[in-house]
Amino acid sequence: MAGMYIHIPFCKSRCIYCDFYSTTYLHYIDDLIKTEVKEIIQRKNEVLEPIETIYFGGGTPSLLTEKHINQLVEALLTNYSVTSDIEFTIEVNPDDVTIEQALIWKKAGINRVSIGIQSFDDAVLQFLSRRHSSVQAQDVIDTILRAGITNIGIDLIYGIPGMSAQSWNMSVMKASTLPIKHISAYHLTYERGTPLYQLKHQGYVQEVPDEISIEQYKTLRNILLTAGFEHYEISNFALPGYASKHNSAYWAAKPYIGIGPSAHSYNGVSRRWNIASIDDYIGKINENYYEIEYLTPVQRFNEYIMTRLRTQKGGLLSDLKNIDNDCFSKWEKQLHLAQKKGLVSIENEYFFIDSQQWLLSDYIILQLIL
Ligand code: SF4
Repeated sequence: MAGMYIHIPFCKSRCIYCDFYSTTYLHYIDDLIKTEVKEIIQRKNEVLEPIETIYFGGGTPSLLTEKHINQLVEALLTNYSVTSDIEFTIEVNPDDVTIEQALIWKKAGINRVSIGIQSFDDAVLQFLSRRHSSVQAQDVIDTILRAGITNIGIDLIYGIPGMSAQSWNMSVMKASTLPIKHISAYHLTYERGTPLYQLKHQGYVQEVPDEISIEQYKTLRNILLTAGFEHYEISNFALPGYASKHNSAYWAAKPYIGIGPSAHSYNGVSRRWNIASIDDYIGKINENYYEIEYLTPVQRFNEYIMTRLRTQKGGLLSDLKNIDNDCFSKWEKQLHLAQKKGLVSIENEYFFIDSQQWLLSDYIILQLIL
């Protein structure tokens, strides 16, 4: 078993670009946690091996009180075995972090904190409707270190309308000098149903031109590689030895369990989606609160290509043969054509996209899936 994901679908307010399932109705939190504990217990027989990673994601898990965290941790440790070197992450928002909270996380066994910082430029943070300031973001890192948690990661966003090259440069430089181990950097996307999507369609904001996105991506890589970070996945950089074990397991298509409304699970054969509604999740926890899709060999084959080509290491040809030999025979021609065009490389039985070409990865992956 690779990992256990617990979704905490609450936010104090919604950021304009976000399409994750979460609500600002914080009064549901007690009932939701009790229901998640039930789901954790219900699913204990799905897992035979020890759990290697736990991830409290959101939403905003830093809204959990000590009682909530203890309820979840107790349910996990009572019903599952975990490895001795478990990676246990909590996602936090800078405006929720106090030394008292950080000490609670430490006491609960949490050993990795991922902070949604997004930018060190206050004007950009306001555009994204984030609740914190740049100064707060930097203070939070110090607070978490004082609590004794040293494995800290942050998220950044680029491709933001109106964000200057200077602003992005400053944010990445700042990030590269902080005592953190991991940086995830995502391009802003315009997801249907978000306020940002509306603003774009009403003509109030415009997507940044590709040339600017490419420049910002190059800036990101140059600064972080110079600072000693490894670019191990399209959107992820880590100091040596600090790649996220939890996310790496997703990209390696290892099985995981997702607990809570809207959480996904995967066991190598099927995918499962929990219902994306707190009311229905709580109300139907003893009945039918999820859907399952059994994956065909072609789907498994394509999923392997899509996830592995996002990583520096790439995929193993023998893994694809093992998934389905007939698919593999059909696919080999596609692979060699892409290799001839210089889109993909093959070395020591691994196929991969050179990191210089990762900006083209969506196009390259389309050329390679069946
Ligand atoms: S980005 Fe994070 S804090 Fe903002 S709405 Fe989405 S889940 Fe909530």
